[in-house]
Amino acid sequence: MMAQVLQIVAEDTRVCPCCGESHAVQECIIARRIVAPGMVAQVPGRYFYCDKADEYFEDHELHAWNEAQVGGFMPPVTVEFGGAAAEGMMENERNDGAAKAEAV
Ligand SMILES: [Zn+2]
Repeated sequence: MMAQVLQIVAEDTRVCPCCGESHAVQECIIARRIVAPGMVAQVPGRYFYCDKADEYFEDHELHAWNEAQVGGFMPPVTVEFGGAAAEGMMENERNDGAAKAEAV
């Protein structure tokens, strides 16, 4: 899954709840985007990363932390950090950026 990693907080070898195998699981801070009518903002998100499945996931503690980051933006918002929808939007942004660069 595509994500911009801002910081790796910790790495522990344990049984990964994502893939079920024992391996080094990173806890990292990644960039997330908040999309609401008329605005897009970047907020950090704390997730565990499984490199076997290439998936970011959160436990209850990280979920609460992540929710707190977006609390001031309610309602209604969409939080994105990867996946097909976000990658599609990033593709649009790249296109917009290219158009602007050409205009300048
Ligand atoms: Zn795993």
